[in-house]
Amino acid sequence: MSRPMGDSHKRFLQTLMSNGIISSIQAKALHRHCCETHGAHYSADRLDEFIDVINANLQPMFMYIRKGMSEEDGVQYYALVNTAETDITRMSSDYADNELELFRKTMDLIVDSENGAASSTDVLNCADSLQTKKMKKKETELVLNKFVQDKWLNEKQGVYTLSTRCIIEMEQYMRLIYQDLIKVCHVCHNVAIQSQICENPTCGIQMHLPCVAIYFKGRSDPLCPACNQFWAHEIPEISQSQSGRSQSQSSPAALAPTPSTSSTRRSRRS
Ligand SMILES: [Zn+2]
Ligand SMILES: [Zn+2]
Repeated sequence: MSRPMGDSHKRFLQTLMSNGIISSIQAKALHRHCCETHGAHYSADRLDEFIDVINANLQPMFMYIRKGMSEEDGVQYYALVNTAETDITRMSSDYADNELELFRKTMDLIVDSENGAASSTDVLNCADSLQTKKMKKKETELVLNKFVQDKWLNEKQGVYTLSTRCIIEMEQYMRLIYQDLIKVCHVCHNVAIQSQICENPTCGIQMHLPCVAIYFKGRSDPLCPACNQFWAHEIPEISQSQSGRSQSQSSPAALAPTPSTSSTRRSRRS
């Protein structure tokens, strides 16, 4: 029998659920905040154990809190994964059928691409051919904005990529749907969507940009870690914000508010 969750664990879980995803810096601050609020024993280096207690209690519901890395800057994040869902059904209560179809098509474009990204032009074009219900350009843009706001997609200058939340929560779905198209990073062994690929056709390993940056740091002549041939890509510079020095997001107040545990005792099942 697993250790039951205390109010501190419940608060942590609720805050994570209402935010969708939190960075490891936020998780550390939230851990402290939850323990202090509920008078629970707090030890800064016990976050993993704290999350293990939550995960043991979530297991019968086929859910668990999982850590993953941002493909853009290497920062670690936590999100809640449902292991029973092998479709994007976890989004279905928030989106209409044609919006979900648009999301799937955007994901297809991104996974099929060389660089793990899709231009807004390509996404807008596929909105024309939705089978559920076509979308006009304006409507498509609004829906895409909603995907970004809800942290399913990232957008930079008209280019869409899969968000960290999407990759953490949808990994199982993506492996099922795209199978061999989904590669893992040679360094961290997580799914690699935005990555560099070894140019040697008999090798072709992939590495995340932050993993490339860390792996080749201080090496003047970058060689592929698998085939030893020259790594013919620009080595990205990644800021070391994952070391946890950034203060801007460290306050639990920056997270979406969580109602006090007493008022949310109601069962969420409906
Ligand atoms: Zn990696
Ligand atoms: Zn290689």
